[in-house]
Amino acid sequence: MFNNLSDKLDKALHVLKGHGSITEVNVAETLKEVRRALLDADVNFKIAKQFTNTVKEKALGQNVLTTLQPGQLMVKIVKDELTQLMGGDAEGINLSGNPSVILMSGLQGSGKTTFSGKLANYLKTKKTKKPLLVACDVYRPAAIDQLHIVGDQINVEVYSDIGNSDPVAIAQAGIAHAKANGHNVVIIDTAGRLAVDEAMMTEISNIHKAIQPQETLFVVDSMTGQDAVNTAKAFNDILNFDGVILTKLDGDTRGGAAISIKSVVNKPIKFIGTGEKMEAIDVFYPSRMADRILGMGDVVSLVERAQEQYDEEEARKLQKKIAKNQFGFDDFLKQIQQIKKMGNMKDLIGMIPGAGKMMKDVDVDDDAFKGIEAIIHSMTPDERSTPSVINASRKKRIAKGSGTSVQEVNQLLKQFTQMSKMMKMMQGGGGKRMMQMMKN
Ligand code: GDP
Repeated sequence: MFNNLSDKLDKALHVLKGHGSITEVNVAETLKEVRRALLDADVNFKIAKQFTNTVKEKALGQNVLTTLQPGQLMVKIVKDELTQLMGGDAEGINLSGNPSVILMSGLQGSGKTTFSGKLANYLKTKKTKKPLLVACDVYRPAAIDQLHIVGDQINVEVYSDIGNSDPVAIAQAGIAHAKANGHNVVIIDTAGRLAVDEAMMTEISNIHKAIQPQETLFVVDSMTGQDAVNTAKAFNDILNFDGVILTKLDGDTRGGAAISIKSVVNKPIKFIGTGEKMEAIDVFYPSRMADRILGMGDVVSLVERAQEQYDEEEARKLQKKIAKNQFGFDDFLKQIQQIKKMGNMKDLIGMIPGAGKMMKDVDVDDDAFKGIEAIIHSMTPDERSTPSVINASRKKRIAKGSGTSVQEVNQLLKQFTQMSKMMKMMQGGGGKRMMQMMKN
């Protein structure tokens, strides 16, 4: 996420981070570089200029040059301003109605349908709501099918009325259906077009007026940079929407949209989309995003994701198995599946402070566990529960079955043995012993 921008900002702030003496001249030079980095990331010119001016004023106001650690203070000012620019505090969505009606708007291809599903799934699992999805695209039957597929995936009901060409009527009927069937959230997916045009604006505005949603969200593809900002402005003029959803932040996005959009439309970014899967949705926290952009990682989000996958019951079972020396490859596989649920590897690595920068040129396979999983799948149940039975001929068979080599099978077995030993040690009050070992 934003690798290029992070890189350039890192270079720009290098001097200030204590790699040289700090003078008025190099503060000015640094800010020029920061501005250039922002412009390269497709941040609006005016915003970039204003940003560096504010940072400069604050630096002068706080007498940066005379403080003990001028570099760190400058980096902090840049971080605070970046946070401010992206919206300050995180803002949730309004779920006050019964049902609460959420209207999705945006261009075709921005990720509206995908996000509608993600949001329904999020509200269902995190907020224990009972959402209904409503398909209001009357032009593309494929769009209605797509929403049904999404609904099936997450087990959320989808309301549609194929053949009805009046989106306002469908939206209203959808809300009535929700009321009659005990749904307390209605998410209305609307039609988009490839570019802003009058017909689309009139249609969404009519739906908006007729259903008066608690929350109107504007979905935008972050890859489109400055265009994203212009589209947001056009939709906001008509809908006065409540919040922005930035999608496709998992791609090679330059960052301009994330940084500029809030100050152009004065509406918060509420969620981000970071992948095609239904779980790839994150609440947008400006401060955490600023940390990530400045290469400081985002440990808070990483821990949160880990906690989301943490299952106390499973953990207790696992503990018992380890204590009894029964930890096998099936358990190992389960652990891998939990890590995978946390998100794609590159994304996770980016959240570790410093690691994003270190690993930026390393090609991290999105499915880094593929080989390991294939090997485990090629084992018999016996071999999985008692790996010590795996002799040379079994290794050959497993390698063949999984399309790997005996060497790779050996490596996995070795890792597994090491891991089991470590787990055992940590269990038996050996945490201290481990620490001692690491120190030595
Ligand atoms: P709509 O026309 O606005 O409803 O857009 P769709 O929901 O159909 O999304 C268009 C394409 O973008 C689809 O191929 C989605 O899988 C993909 N997409 C949506 N959100 C994301 C995201 O956050 N990351 C990535 N990588 N792809 C996404």
